[in-house]
Amino acid sequence: MTNEGRLKLLKGRSNNTDPLKTASPGQETEEDVVLNISLRPQKFTEFTGQKEIIDNLKICLAAAKERKEPLEHILLSGPPGLGKTSLSHIIAHEMGTKITATSGPAIERAGDLIGILTNLEKGDILFIDEIHRLSKVVEEFLYPAMEGFQIDFVIDKGQFARTIKFNLKPFTLIGATTRTGLLAAPLRARFGIFHHLDFYKIEDLAVIIKHSAKILGVEIDNEAADEVARRSRGTPRIANRLLRRIRDYAQVKKIGKINLTVASETLDELGIDKAGLDDIDRRVLKTILQNYSGGPVGVESLAATLNEETDTIVDTVEPFLLKAGYIKRTSRGRLATKLSFEHFGLKYNKEKQEELFEK
Ligand code: ADP
Repeated sequence: MTNEGRLKLLKGRSNNTDPLKTASPGQETEEDVVLNISLRPQKFTEFTGQKEIIDNLKICLAAAKERKEPLEHILLSGPPGLGKTSLSHIIAHEMGTKITATSGPAIERAGDLIGILTNLEKGDILFIDEIHRLSKVVEEFLYPAMEGFQIDFVIDKGQFARTIKFNLKPFTLIGATTRTGLLAAPLRARFGIFHHLDFYKIEDLAVIIKHSAKILGVEIDNEAADEVARRSRGTPRIANRLLRRIRDYAQVKKIGKINLTVASETLDELGIDKAGLDDIDRRVLKTILQNYSGGPVGVESLAATLNEETDTIVDTVEPFLLKAGYIKRTSRGRLATKLSFEHFGLKYNKEKQEELFEK
């Protein structure tokens, strides 16, 4: 897809009111679209980490190739910036097929899909990002397309309305979602392969950072790469974004090779703390700790207090805070853990929390 096309798609996405805002961790910005394209891995060998998923996909791909059949439909889930789009492009590349990419919010009417579906050749891949945001009507239109490679056209109106069936060439749908929970059960049931991408290990992120540095034509030492990796919220997109900022800083300061000092200084300046939490992470935690005495607090109330979209908190902020152990999800809402209290130098004492905050 062209950059122009990706920018258009991006504008149709959620949580992107300010396209250059980096406050929503992991979300794609316009800068990512324009500059990141060369950093996107093209082959399995360039895709670092997520070993189990890659091994499993390789087997599925090899088997499908051997049978000369298209791949089953694939559902990729996980927080933004972990490689769902990249993986879809890699799958197309490895299968030697064409990929057409779109997103849930970009498909407004079932009619928008007809052109896309009828243009697919056997084995082609249709990638739908944010598939949980498809409208009900579009979703239902997709069912027969996914299942029997058929779509129903309705022609004429009122008493003259007729439905004609149109056969499609067998294709593979790859859906990406940050929230499988929001996917309707009948849609989920039509996928044959499911993979959930988890946050990356620091070692894997360091490899990605060093590889990206090479592509960007900048030198970085191991210590610096590890530091950026530690402070990237387990997310390759964030790692690449931070690397670009550090590169700018090094360039302006006329520093030839990025070392630990340059990396740390830039990260501090960007408001990324030693634990890798950024401004919005800290605002979320502080709100739970201070306004709600450590919780539990419902995500809606939390979002309202922060003046943020609930989706931003749920899709981009909370997953990492949960994974890293700063918050817990309980039936009564989000609860700050001991780690959160300690991060802000507060004494963890569940009973005395309110007293502590009054001081
Ligand atoms: P998602 O679709 O999950 O939001 P993307 O596939 O768009 O994430 O990934 C964002 C960027 O992060 C990519 O352009 C690429 O630069 C980088 N990236 C993601 N996963 C990997 C990986 N496993 N190895 C190397 N780079 C990666």
